[in-house]
Amino acid sequence: MTVTPSCISAISLVVPCYNEETTLPFFYQEVSTVLGTINGGKTGEIIFIDDGSTDATLAVLKNLAAEDSRVHYISFSRNFGKEAALLAGLQAAHGQIVVTLDADLQDPPSLIPQMLEAVASGEFDCAGTRRVSRKGEPPIRSFFARRFYKIMAKLSDIEVVDGARDFRLMNRKYVDAIVSLPERTRFSKGIFPWIGFKTKWFEYENTQRIAGNTKWSFWKLLLYSFDGIIAFSSKPLAVASIMGILLFLIALVVICFIVIRRLVWGDPVDGWASTACIILFCSGIQLFTTGILGQYLAKTYTEVKQRPHFVIREAK
Ligand code: UDP
Ligand code: MG
Repeated sequence: MTVTPSCISAISLVVPCYNEETTLPFFYQEVSTVLGTINGGKTGEIIFIDDGSTDATLAVLKNLAAEDSRVHYISFSRNFGKEAALLAGLQAAHGQIVVTLDADLQDPPSLIPQMLEAVASGEFDCAGTRRVSRKGEPPIRSFFARRFYKIMAKLSDIEVVDGARDFRLMNRKYVDAIVSLPERTRFSKGIFPWIGFKTKWFEYENTQRIAGNTKWSFWKLLLYSFDGIIAFSSKPLAVASIMGILLFLIALVVICFIVIRRLVWGDPVDGWASTACIILFCSGIQLFTTGILGQYLAKTYTEVKQRPHFVIREAK
């Protein structure tokens, strides 16, 4: 399919890269082929964001930029995370159409023409993608990922689509809306549905990354999911309050029981075991709920400091 220039004035690809020296040559090859089918490959830019890589990613990007004028790069002063890299790319993108995709070819660039067709028609503002399988992923990771989507659906008002990827093709209005959100704790999977607009979904089977290793450990993903819940739901705070009220009511009943027992049967000196259990139980709940409060406080502190989302070391 060839999309005519009247449909789109320019397309920008935004690609976050963290230690991707081995994948970039494959990625560039495939993306160039796909861009060649859009407006004859004449318009467009590929913005790579080097997210503080410690391998030769930046050197590879510099070579690509020297050979191809469509290639640009932004290099961070350290690793700021994929969310910051995506934001930097979206802020820098000039295109009327912007595509975000990973550098490891797990997001198939061959889908771009179809996605472009959906958005260029004017019917949709965004073309989103979701994996319909989690083939090749560790089972424990898939299990927790599914639980996360279920919990998120219960806790927040926005709909985080199960398996949705950050591989998106968006029009200018959509990009401007994303960039206008100033928050420091960015959780794209929540930001996309929060801004609204019309999204057409494309589905594909999960594929293995072309080379290199995933940058997401289990713990990193777990913390990221907490970020998501805290950024898009205040229900955990309500849970803390409800637990407090329930415990108070239970305490009232227990106090009545103890007072009546004292009046009727006197004051036998036993019950240290039950006392110890009650103290342990209550202090556990207190720590748990203080922890929830602490999470919100910490996020508020991060927002209040108003630090920039990233620091750029060099760019072209
Ligand atoms: N990435 C990044 N900063 C990070 C971690 C990852 O820019 O701190 C990039 C990475 O280079 C890749 C994309 O984000 O282009 C997705 O990362 P990865 O493939 O490791 O994640 P997975 O596909 O396993 O979820
Ligand atoms: Mg990947």
